[in-house]
Amino acid sequence: MQQKVLVIEDSSTSLALLRKLVEQAGLKPVIATTLAEARHIFLHSDPEDYLCAIVDYHLPDAPNGEAIDYAIDSFIPTIVSTGNVDAVTRSVVLAKDVVDYIPKENAQVFDYLMRLLSRLEKNKGIGVIVADPKRQNRTAMAALLRRHNFITFECASTEEIDGLLSTYPNIKLLLIDSEVKGELPTQFVAHLRKSFNKETLAILGLSEDENNLLSARFIKSGANDFVKKPFCHEELLCRIMLNIDLIEKVETIRRTANTDYLTGLPNRRHFFYTVDQCKQSDLRYQSVALVDLDHFKQVNDSYGHDAGDAVLKAVAKRIAKHCSDMVVSRFGGEEFCIFLPNVPAEEAVKRIEVLRQHIAATPINYNGVSLPVTASIGLTINASGNIHELLTQADKLLYEAKSSGRNRVVHD
Ligand code: GH3
Ligand code: MG
Ligand code: MG
Ligand code: MG
Repeated sequence: MQQKVLVIEDSSTSLALLRKLVEQAGLKPVIATTLAEARHIFLHSDPEDYLCAIVDYHLPDAPNGEAIDYAIDSFIPTIVSTGNVDAVTRSVVLAKDVVDYIPKENAQVFDYLMRLLSRLEKNKGIGVIVADPKRQNRTAMAALLRRHNFITFECASTEEIDGLLSTYPNIKLLLIDSEVKGELPTQFVAHLRKSFNKETLAILGLSEDENNLLSARFIKSGANDFVKKPFCHEELLCRIMLNIDLIEKVETIRRTANTDYLTGLPNRRHFFYTVDQCKQSDLRYQSVALVDLDHFKQVNDSYGHDAGDAVLKAVAKRIAKHCSDMVVSRFGGEEFCIFLPNVPAEEAVKRIEVLRQHIAATPINYNGVSLPVTASIGLTINASGNIHELLTQADKLLYEAKSSGRNRVVHD
């Protein structure tokens, strides 16, 4: 279900802008122009449906931030927007348990709000460790992070950090205080970097250090960033956002580089990488199937290239569904390749024969036109050697499958 954002704002200019921003973020704005209206809306809704609230500090019936308290008390992550950015208002706002505040001063701020909204949504899947020997610090930091929808883990020692990292793969950020118990934190960070690079785990050092030496030492040991305590709320959150954004960008690039753009299957490059990983463990059996669609050119010629694309996507889906425990890829054009690690030969033949039937079983519906599809498959279960030798053999068998009538599996 599309998540909602409660916007409490009385200025029509700001309202128009906020409404547009929330919609651009793929969320549904629910508007109230007074606190009374917001209360009324909330009588009939479930706070769980709301990703957050964006609340104006100054409203006709709530002149001094009363609407903020109302939103917080309703358990909605609350972002405050305010026209006054004086120090007093700022500290009053930040003393409340808000996610952040947005001064309505320039267009850049709205860009920031846009990023904040998309982060609130994405943060729900991201784990963060707060490692600090002082319970009070840990608890305050974790509460701040939870308001940003992060999944938080608190601990006091480097040993516990190790345990958490090996148990929860969704952890992408470690906030580590320089006084953490156990190993010397800079040494510990250097040691962590052997298993987690900067693009998979962001590490932020925190310290009350007075002499400025620690920040450099943390970063030289492999931390992504460093924040001095007592920290400025906004600086810390901005740095967290920047570092998590970076990790996600690298993930996206990696995923794009490994994925075939049309079908979403792993591409040829990724196939060789994954097979290589498999081959590093002891394989008792290994087989390779090359799948080539039959007379595919005719689909393009008769129904157009888009129809051809639709067939490729549908076949890719069938392969992915049938071969979820194998290494699959779109090899190029109308050709797919499947590596079966540790599947006994007889079972491999059976599985690939079932796959062929599964591909041919139902024609593909393209805009109401029914397009029959079949595939020929060359399967090697006996070849030995490296992946390239297996592929050469599978290709020979595929050729035999084509020349002996198509829509069949030929194996050695
Ligand atoms: P055969 O049974 O012998 O394999 O015949 P075929 O027509 O499938 O084989 P051929 O190699 O002659 O033609 C493959 C066609 O696949 C030609 C090419 O235009 C088409 N093709 C390759 N990649 C794509 C693609 O991404 N989208 C579409 N729509 N067609 C593609
Ligand atoms: Mg106002
Ligand atoms: Mg081909
Ligand atoms: Mg073909």
